[in-house]
Amino acid sequence: MSRYWSDVVGALTPYTPGEQPREPNLIKLNTNESPYPPSPRVLEIIRGMQADDLRRYPDPESAVLRQAIAKRFGLTSDQVFVGNGSDEVIALAFMALFQHPRPICFPDVSYSFYPVWADLYGISYDTVAVTAEFTIDPESYPARNGGVIVPNPNAPTGVLMTLSAIRTLLRRCQDSVVIIDEAYIDYGGESAVRLIAEYDNLLVVQTLSKSRALAGLRVGWAMGSGRLVEALGRVKNSFNSYPVDFVAQTAALAALEDEAHFTDSCQRVIESRERLSAALEAMGFEVLPSRANFVLTRHARVPAGELFTALRERAIIVRYFERPRIRNYLRITVGTPEQIELLLAALKDRIGCE
Ligand SMILES: *Cc1c(COP(=O)(O)O)cnc(C)c1O
Repeated sequence: MSRYWSDVVGALTPYTPGEQPREPNLIKLNTNESPYPPSPRVLEIIRGMQADDLRRYPDPESAVLRQAIAKRFGLTSDQVFVGNGSDEVIALAFMALFQHPRPICFPDVSYSFYPVWADLYGISYDTVAVTAEFTIDPESYPARNGGVIVPNPNAPTGVLMTLSAIRTLLRRCQDSVVIIDEAYIDYGGESAVRLIAEYDNLLVVQTLSKSRALAGLRVGWAMGSGRLVEALGRVKNSFNSYPVDFVAQTAALAALEDEAHFTDSCQRVIESRERLSAALEAMGFEVLPSRANFVLTRHARVPAGELFTALRERAIIVRYFERPRIRNYLRITVGTPEQIELLLAALKDRIGCE
């Protein structure tokens, strides 16, 4: 704490992102990036950029990109908000829609950025326990709250909530905004986007970072009723007029247009996830049923912390959270088939010595 810091800054506990190591030959299965490259059209577009494209300010409203997202999801542009990664979109949504007297709610096992944003804005929160099977029961949420945010599929469990459970949650909490964070929805889940027409308290957030292999581009968006989207725009325009740069707006458009590349890489990840889950189970691991590009798993005998260290020594990094309910689990990103083979061999090597 420096004497120049405000009390607010001194009290912050910032989010810790997964490690981004520089060592070249590491097998990186810790931050849920796609193991496959983005659409080749994205690189073509970036290579074709002109000096003037960068000399000028970008469109502050990302109009062309919003139009493309709206068209893809059967919405209108005024139902789409675009930001610098979905983390930024969610941060703006906390400020725009969650600053109410009652506490907001999210699952006890969930994305660990949510409490960080709540603390940043001085928003109080209650966590709601997921079931023993790590599912989310909408009936366990208080009907009156300052807002609800749930990742679907949940992170870091990978467990999917059905659309009918989401409907129950939306009806139950009709006086507050319910945000469904769909960072991993493209790996076998059904998006809640089609409920937007029925529920004006629903905000659905998606990103190019995972299923479109563009974590480095920083583009995410929110979809919901015009009034919710307008609130996000009001906060954005009181903070930064140009959160999405020209390169990001243009390349994102190219990514969204390449539906074939997108479907193909999601399908490959889904097939690898199923193979990985089965192989882990055969080695004595319990694997939660995942609809994401990662699995949460624990071994019957060997503690997760020890497995994490053993993998790190073999140049494989996975994610280990020292948090209640999941401290004996590892979260493993679904890599390429070759990476999965190396991971399984390393685990066999370590577990074999028990
Ligand atoms: C990865 C992730 C995001 C954020 O991704 P961005 O790269 O900021 O778009 C949001 N929510 C969850 C649950 C995630 O895992």
